[in-house]
Amino acid sequence: MNLHELPSVEHLLQTQLAAELIASYGRPTTIKAIRSVLDGIRERVATNEIPTIPNRQHILDEASSLLESWTSPTLLPVINASGVILHTNLGRAPLSNAALKAIQAISHGYSNLEFDLDTGKRGSRLLHAEELLKRLTGAEAAIIVNNNAAAMLLGLAALARRKRVVISRSQMVEIGGEFRIPDVMKQSGAKLIEVGATNKVRLVDYEEALEEPTAILLHVHRSNFKMIGFTEEPEWKDIVTLAHSRGVPCVDDLGSGTLLETAHYGLAHEPTIQESLANGVDLVCFSGDKLLGGPQAGIIIGKAELIAVIKKHPLARALRADKLCLAALTATLLHYLKDEAEREIPVWRMMALTPDQIRQTAKGWREKLGLGEVVAGRSTIGGGSLPEESLPTFLLALDVKSPDKFLKELRRQQPPIIARTEKDRILLDPRTVLPEEGGELLAGLLNALHGKKRTADIIRG
Ligand SMILES: *Cc1c(COP(=O)(O)O)cnc(C)c1O
Repeated sequence: MNLHELPSVEHLLQTQLAAELIASYGRPTTIKAIRSVLDGIRERVATNEIPTIPNRQHILDEASSLLESWTSPTLLPVINASGVILHTNLGRAPLSNAALKAIQAISHGYSNLEFDLDTGKRGSRLLHAEELLKRLTGAEAAIIVNNNAAAMLLGLAALARRKRVVISRSQMVEIGGEFRIPDVMKQSGAKLIEVGATNKVRLVDYEEALEEPTAILLHVHRSNFKMIGFTEEPEWKDIVTLAHSRGVPCVDDLGSGTLLETAHYGLAHEPTIQESLANGVDLVCFSGDKLLGGPQAGIIIGKAELIAVIKKHPLARALRADKLCLAALTATLLHYLKDEAEREIPVWRMMALTPDQIRQTAKGWREKLGLGEVVAGRSTIGGGSLPEESLPTFLLALDVKSPDKFLKELRRQQPPIIARTEKDRILLDPRTVLPEEGGELLAGLLNALHGKKRTADIIRG
């Protein structure tokens, strides 16, 4: 066999198919793909893997597949049928329609992000969300950064570098994704002073620690685990009073942070932002994309003089929120101000769904699918809030030959479907499936059950 028979790149580029590839993918990338295919053929010929030189059509088809794989997106929307409302691996909170519209409006063209329309001079990007946060919480000031981990890092770096930060041993926690409170404190340059024992901390432990000059007393919410048994902790209010009597400001890392009462939804009480401020703390930190239901963000609110110091720290610039985040966050906060959060913010809408509403959806799926069983189950909150807490739900349960293979098949659908299994049954929870995703979910399920061709028949019939 003769490698001279292999067509040249120039030759291939003159074909109609190559012209089409260039129109879709651009000339340089098309050339790269063709070269890559030709290199592969040369290699396979050298190792006698292929007996003959493929023809032009074959080579260009291969280049076409390669170009498709190079350019198909890897970050994809998925349907969350897992019943975990705040699934960190699935992007946490879905945004409200108003938040999406705000992103579109602000990013399509230019905006007054840092431009004061009154004076025509430079303005502050924080102003927009800060005003709303102040109005909603009564806090004096606010700053918004990339996420809550960044908020902690920045707050500690600005207020406690080379100084003492007192924290209870019971709060030296790992949040997830290798994010550990002691590691962040180390990075910020703060000196970590642990008090008490893991399960028992008393007010005198804090008193002793506060005898030396201290920059901050830090409180970290146990977002993802519970402590039970032989435990003791003073009231947070009493710790704040003690710290203030020594002139030490208190910072409360709430983790999720919620403006609404979770107990109204049949869940345990998650500390609210308002109640944290009412405890007299000086700063409160929380995430934008947990129970707040907005974009990824880290929010610090509280005393104006402390926020002013934080805003001036060089890290504030490095960790600042971008305009898309600020647009979505502002729109999300507006829902709370207008008392329409439960109706407009997806995570609250999901929590507010009644078991009966969910049963109706599951029944509808079962009817259209022609199989499965509607069973009672639980949805969870997830995303580092309300550990062990769940909501009663109804699930569509499917019995399939190989559950793991079927889950994989579901993940291969467009859009991918994320379900879970229990006792070898596939479970789909309507609570976390957006209403407009129902059709795609059913098409994907049918596909996974019967294959593409058969599904087309079923949908047609
Ligand atoms: C989730 C969480 C964080 C981290 O927040 P991100 O926004 O994910 O960076 C920090 N502290 C606590 C207590 C948390 O629950």
